[in-house]
Amino acid sequence: MITNGTVLTMNPAREVIENGTVVVKDNKILAVGNADLAKKYTAEKQLDVDGDIVMPGLINTHTHVSMTVFRSLADDVPDRLHRYIFPLESALVSRDMVRIGANLGNVEMLKGGVTTYADMYYFEDEVAKTVDKIGMRAVLGETVIKYPVADAKNADEGIAYALNFIEEYKDHPRITPAFAPHGPYTNTTETLQKISELSLKLNVPVLMHLAESHREQEVIAERSGGKSPVQYMHDIGALNRNLVGAT
Ligand SMILES: [Zn+2]
Repeated sequence: MITNGTVLTMNPAREVIENGTVVVKDNKILAVGNADLAKKYTAEKQLDVDGDIVMPGLINTHTHVSMTVFRSLADDVPDRLHRYIFPLESALVSRDMVRIGANLGNVEMLKGGVTTYADMYYFEDEVAKTVDKIGMRAVLGETVIKYPVADAKNADEGIAYALNFIEEYKDHPRITPAFAPHGPYTNTTETLQKISELSLKLNVPVLMHLAESHREQEVIAERSGGKSPVQYMHDIGALNRNLVGAT
């Protein structure tokens, strides 16, 4: 039982309860109310938070948690992704790096109030193990990209890796496995269409960068006769209800 909290309920009326009480049983919230509520329950463990905010966990809708190890590198450089990040990744991404970066990023997110996140990276099964262990929730997208990367030589291998990962984690209570095509310009039309179909068939999310960069707009305009990335995705039939686009 949490007592003496400033409870941000986030209910439809956006009610805030001063000196509020939250009662938790197992992993579910049993009751939320004012100070009187505390008298109705006996708790094995009671926490007086002295006016601190008690609120639902924040949700980070787009991250690459393992990239905490690359933090700040070349942040101020134009076309950072192609000039710095892709070369760094081809030199350094491994199961160890993914696991170590995820463990660090998970702790940082929890300390900032984030309890759920959507991630896109390689070796996503390593990220899943860290999420399982620390007790967070996550939507974890295995990357599909047309270039050779640490866990796949091409997009087809990336899709195969993602399918294995989805199969392994589809029934996990806190982890939602997903496809993560890196972006429209770093995949072929055929790959994007295939992932869209598979996502509907398996009912899993698709996490993707969309309308993110100037280079992407140029490549897609050239490929499609002047269309924007979103229009192009729509016209090839790859925009569906399972897609989460990030910029
Ligand atoms: Zn991103």
